[in-house]
Amino acid sequence: MDNNHVTGMLDTIIIGGGQAGLTLGHHLKAKQRNFLILDANPRSGDAWRQRWDSLRVFTPAKYDGLPGEPFPADPLSFPTKDEVAGYLENYAVHNALPIVHGTRVERLWREGGHFVAASDGRRWEARNAVVATGVSQAPRIPSFARELPPSTIQLHSAEYRNPGQLQDGPVLVVGLGNSGAEIALEVGRTHPTTVAGKPGGELPVKHGRAAARYALPVVRFLGLHVLNLDTPVGRKAAPAFKAHAAPLIRTKTKDLAAAGVRLVPRVTGVENGKPVLADGTRVDAANVIWCTGFRDDFSWMDPELLDDGALPRQHRGVALDTPGLFFLGQEFLYSAASATLPGAGRDARYLAGKIPQSGGVDVLPMRQ
Ligand code: FAD
Repeated sequence: MDNNHVTGMLDTIIIGGGQAGLTLGHHLKAKQRNFLILDANPRSGDAWRQRWDSLRVFTPAKYDGLPGEPFPADPLSFPTKDEVAGYLENYAVHNALPIVHGTRVERLWREGGHFVAASDGRRWEARNAVVATGVSQAPRIPSFARELPPSTIQLHSAEYRNPGQLQDGPVLVVGLGNSGAEIALEVGRTHPTTVAGKPGGELPVKHGRAAARYALPVVRFLGLHVLNLDTPVGRKAAPAFKAHAAPLIRTKTKDLAAAGVRLVPRVTGVENGKPVLADGTRVDAANVIWCTGFRDDFSWMDPELLDDGALPRQHRGVALDTPGLFFLGQEFLYSAASATLPGAGRDARYLAGKIPQSGGVDVLPMRQ
C-alpha cells in the first residue's frame, strides 16, 4: 500500500525518521506491527546530509551499523556524513519501512484513548505515538547575538556548510564542543580564527585508526554499559552529560593552537557591536559561528503531553503518566550513547518491547 494513502487507526505512529525512528521501525517490523513513520525531510538520511560538508563521524564504521545491517565500510574507517545518510536511506529501503516523507507533524494530541498527529491539513490516528525528532531540533543562540551589527555574518553550526559562506576578515567561533573545534580548525585555514569557550574535557588519545582499534571500543563500552541509568555512576553523570558539551574527540585544543587558532574565554555579551569575553576583552569578528548547541522544541505537541514544555516523566523513553506515549533518541535517554549511532539500536529494541500491541491490522487505503 502507498504509505501516503494510509488511513484508519494505526497501532503506532513514529514522528521522526532519522536513525532513531528507522531503528524502531526495524524492530516493529520484525514484530509484524502496524506502524507508520512521519518525517519532515524529503529523504531518509537528510538530517545527516544537512550537516557541514566536511563532516566525518568520529565513531568508526564498525559501530555505526544499525540492527540487522553492518555499515558497509572498512570497520576502522570514519564515514563521511553523506555516507551515513546513504546508509540510512538504504536501511529504510532494505527494511521496507513505511515512511511518509516531507511531512512535518505540526500538532500531536490525545483524543479519546488514542493520539492524533496533524500535518498540513492531514491527520493520522494511532494508539501509540513515538517522538523521535532528534536532539538537533532548535539551534540555541544567546539573545545578545541580536546586538551584533548587520554587517557581521552570523551562522549557527546547523547552518554552517563550508568557509565559502564567510566574508573576509576574522572569524569568532563561539563554543568549544566537538562542532566548535572542528569548524574552527576548518575555517582557520582560510580566516584568522578565534574560538571562545572551555571544552568539557578531551579524549586522552589521538583519534584515528589506532584509536578505533584500541581506545574507542573502551569509550563505546563505557558509553553503553557503564554510563547508563542502571548504574549509580551513570545516574550521577546523566544531568551533567545533558547540560555540558561532550569531551573533544578528534580535534583537541593543541591541534587548534598548532593551526594558529586563538583560544579565548567564553563570550558573555556584546558591547558597542563587538562580542565581549568573560575576561572583559572585546573581539573583532567579521563572522560569528555559534557552535552553542541545540535546545528541545516540543512546541508542536499538546502541552498536556509534556512537563512544562520539556520531556515528561519517563523511563527509557516510556512516558510514565501518558499511556501510549514514547520518546526515542534524546540525550541520555538511557545511556551516554543514546543519541548516537552505536546507542540507537539498544534503546529502540527496548522501546519496541514496551509499545503495547493493540488490536489487529486495521489500516485502510484512504478513500480519494
Ligand atoms: P535526527 O537524525 O535529527 O532525525 C530526526 C528526524 O526527525 C529528522 O529527519 C527530522 O526532519 C524529523 N523531524 C523533526 N521534527 C519533526 C516533526 N515535527 N515531524 C516530522 N518529522 C520531524 N553520532 C554518532 O554516532 N557518531 C558521530 O560521529 C556523530 N557526529 C555528530 C556530529 C554532529 C555535528 C551532530 C550534530 C551529531 C553527531 N552525532 C554523531 C549524533 C547523532 O548520531 C545524531 O544527532 C543523529 O542524527 C540523531 O538521530 P535521531 O534519529 O535521533 O535524530
